[in-house]
Amino acid sequence: MSESSCLRCGTPVKTDANSYGTLCVHCHENPPSFNLCRSAMLYLETADILFKAFKYRKNWRLSGYLSEILLEHYQEHFEKFQHDLILYVPSHPLKNFRRGYNQSYLLACELSKKTGIPMEIELVKKVRKTESQATLNREERQKNLVGVFAVDGMRGSRLTGKRILIVDDVVTTGATVEEICGLMKAFKPALIHVLTAARTPLAYQ
Ligand SMILES: [Zn+2]
Repeated sequence: MSESSCLRCGTPVKTDANSYGTLCVHCHENPPSFNLCRSAMLYLETADILFKAFKYRKNWRLSGYLSEILLEHYQEHFEKFQHDLILYVPSHPLKNFRRGYNQSYLLACELSKKTGIPMEIELVKKVRKTESQATLNREERQKNLVGVFAVDGMRGSRLTGKRILIVDDVVTTGATVEEICGLMKAFKPALIHVLTAARTPLAYQ
């Protein structure tokens, strides 16, 4: 048995005679709304310390370091797609107020500056607050997210025919990006890619 990555969502998968070729079990059973998702690092012990400092201890300056890692990964896996727009995973305004910032927004801003790809602000909004997803499984997370996000109807047409890159800090089950990409698909973008700084390995989800 060897380890490789799911071609669609990028999660590490063990490959053997019974696996689904190059897709993880989730992408095989329910193909996601995004075309490709890749992460710069696995969410292991060191990443845990880094992201807790970034998200919960107001170390917003870490966005500079993390965006350098994102840029490297972008150049390796995504640059050839020549994206038209960068978006980020929004958080609720109340949470932004309490934390002082949205970490995905900061990363997207930095990547936009470094690549020259324009960023759309508040095109996708978080319109309803969610309880913490930490204790929920994949299905519960998906249900918990219904009606939580909305695409700004006045500006949704900006997605049409465009190559979109969504930036997030950490992807866990992928439920949040799936919900957002599902909403965006109604506006018929040419493709949707997701780039995150870290990913939780499948075994930990
Ligand atoms: Zn997958």
